[in-house]
Amino acid sequence: MTIASLPPVIRDVPGQDNAAAFLARALAHPSHAYLFSGPEGSGKRLAMRAFAAALLCPDGGCGDCRACRLALGERHPNMLLLEPTGPDILVGKDAQDPNTARWFASRAYLTPPEPGRKIMVVLQADRLRVEAADVLLKALEEPPTDTIFVLMSARPDELPETVRSRVQEIGFPPLSEAFVVDALMSEGVSEDLARLACRLAGGNLGRARRTAKSEHGLDSRTVALSVGAKAAAGPGQALGAAEELLAAAKGFRGVLGEELELEFEPFLDPNGKPEEAFKGIIRRMKDQHERRLRRAEREFLDSALLALAAHWRDVAVLASGGGPEMLINVDLAEELQAAPAGAAQAGLAMGHIEQARADLADETNLNARLVLERMFLKLARLNQDHAFVQ
Ligand SMILES: [Zn+2]
Repeated sequence: MTIASLPPVIRDVPGQDNAAAFLARALAHPSHAYLFSGPEGSGKRLAMRAFAAALLCPDGGCGDCRACRLALGERHPNMLLLEPTGPDILVGKDAQDPNTARWFASRAYLTPPEPGRKIMVVLQADRLRVEAADVLLKALEEPPTDTIFVLMSARPDELPETVRSRVQEIGFPPLSEAFVVDALMSEGVSEDLARLACRLAGGNLGRARRTAKSEHGLDSRTVALSVGAKAAAGPGQALGAAEELLAAAKGFRGVLGEELELEFEPFLDPNGKPEEAFKGIIRRMKDQHERRLRRAEREFLDSALLALAAHWRDVAVLASGGGPEMLINVDLAEELQAAPAGAAQAGLAMGHIEQARADLADETNLNARLVLERMFLKLARLNQDHAFVQ
């Protein structure tokens, strides 16, 4: 299937030619359940919207009609999304318990609001608790007619095997650097900044875009490198470094809140009140914003730790004879070349930082301060040990 013969909505799925071709073929005889698997920022969600549009559009995904536009905005009445409201997707008390597996599964058997198919999407499907997965499983085993499930996951290995064996899996590998850089440049970002943002974001297009385009996009790296340098002065400074990073993460939450408020503007009347027709949309956006704000501090801390790990990775590259073109922090080549640390210390530092990231990713781990203090103490200690070796 050539690119030109794909339905327009599918053709617009960025950087995932194999997945797009697969989806286009699936449109003729869609199976009842799919799993889109791949890391954050690889384009799964855009592909899901395009696939939904192609399934709901009377012309198979023209990209222009009402059905397409609504589906691409995840606002088509026949689309239903389930996502974790806390750390997990819960089973729920009954079908009336919103945003739970029971609520979601019960809707699979209802007549859709508009004639045609129903698209039932589970975001972060790996967060289904065992009982919730069992409820969903029933619907997957006896699929309602004209209902298509799309499960999405960055950690497909954590899905119960019972669920995974009943869905058709489509892989979304990480986007290539060339693709992400081109995409950002086509949006007006300079090549240098696009490359830096892409490397700092590990190829995650959404994150790279925020890094490159938000006024505060590089804040987490700036803070991370500054507190990292502070912690290197010794264990006495390490606790202060953790404190400073936590304060910056709190500050970021405030900034993000203001940025999100701006998204409501197109839906408000001149008095700043929501227009009647948009009340439903605004309510949903508010829920989404609240969830993002709840995650904002962890998101900032994770970006900061990634930046710190990237710094040490660059130190290791240079210490092992790599050239400046191999750096993540392409703009900091001079400073990095002057760094006294060797490859061994850099490797150990990256290990400590990765451990802290893993600990923070576990949302049941509420004590971020302890995780950060422990990490900075280890980094400080490392610096002392290696200072004598050099
Ligand atoms: Zn259409």
